Amino acid sequence: MGENEQKPPIAAIGGGPGEQVNGPAAGNALNGASSPGKVPVDPLAAIVDVLRRGERFLVCSHSRPDGDAVGSMLATGMLLAQMGKRADLVAADRIPNIYRELPGAEGIRIAMRVHGPYDAVIMLECDSVERTRLRGLEPFFIVNIDHHATGQEFGAINWIDRGAASVGELVYRLVRAAGGTVTPEMATCLYTTILTDTGGFCYGGTRPSTFELARELTQAGADPIRIAQEIYFSTATSKLLLLGAALSNLKREGRLAWLWVTHQDMVRTCAAEEDCEGIVNYAVSIAGVEAAAFLRELPEGAIRLSLRSKGRVDVAAIAARLGGGGHENAAGVTLEGTLTRALGEILGELRSNVSRLAYDSGEGRGREAT
Ligand code: 5GP
Ligand code: MN
Repeated sequence: MGENEQKPPIAAIGGGPGEQVNGPAAGNALNGASSPGKVPVDPLAAIVDVLRRGERFLVCSHSRPDGDAVGSMLATGMLLAQMGKRADLVAADRIPNIYRELPGAEGIRIAMRVHGPYDAVIMLECDSVERTRLRGLEPFFIVNIDHHATGQEFGAINWIDRGAASVGELVYRLVRAAGGTVTPEMATCLYTTILTDTGGFCYGGTRPSTFELARELTQAGADPIRIAQEIYFSTATSKLLLLGAALSNLKREGRLAWLWVTHQDMVRTCAAEEDCEGIVNYAVSIAGVEAAAFLRELPEGAIRLSLRSKGRVDVAAIAARLGGGGHENAAGVTLEGTLTRALGEILGELRSNVSRLAYDSGEGRGREAT
């Protein structure tokens, strides 16, 4: 998802917070790629250096992969192939149907644990190693490329650009910096990352440069009509049935709206996890609603929570407080406990945020005075 915060180009930052090269993990062949504690290095240049020097790479992203995760992984794999390198693409969860037609998607391996003689792990779109839900990553030299508001410098190299509309935008810059060619297949994957992460060029963070990139990618061979067909007009019947269940649970309270599905709803509608994607958008689409939540009961007694905001409520901060993360306008977290408890917890957070909003704009004071 995009966001509002803008950052200067990385070359101009030279190691500012979130965009610097840290000391690499110990005992790796690529340890010379950066200089711990010395002159800050341009992370993009450092990453190109790592790609040139290494031979074998693991490319991964977060669990429950979305369009940015899948498209960025595939494009990175294509770049590495062009450079004559070996790349294993691994995800902890299956690739959602709407992204299965992306070029090379069949090559992504689903696994819970990774091992192999990797020179580096290219970790995309993760604000922690745990977000991958992959085991065995700790010993590796991690290259962390992210654009989340809640991005963290946990890698040996960290390139976190919160102004990027998608991680795919960063991968595009990486391809250019490494002298790669944006093939029609790569353009298709990268276009998918910006289309999905900006919600079809609707979310905050959609800037002139976003359209400029879309133009370049369509010129390079991405077909916007075909990609939109795959993503927005290939809905599974189970998803619409699940949406019906969620909408029958829709609640509205001033500037807040929320809805949920039980595990029983999931079973009854034969819904897959990926069918939940986007349901929260119906709640935030309501006129006058500033923030919305979608809750899904998991079979193991936990709750998946998706948060959305129109821009005045920082849902990344709320999700981070509860142990998750994301962007200011779109964030998520998994909460332990029952639906009732999770709902109470999130409504407490959202209500206090929204009442502060009303007070800041003078509305709260107005009400108190009457
Ligand atoms: P969604 O609601 O679509 O699952 O996620 C919205 C945004 O929040 C995405 O950028 C996603 O990466 C982030 N996000 C969702 N769930 C989690 C979580 O459990 N932990 C963290 N750190 N980020 C999350
Ligand atoms: Mn993203």
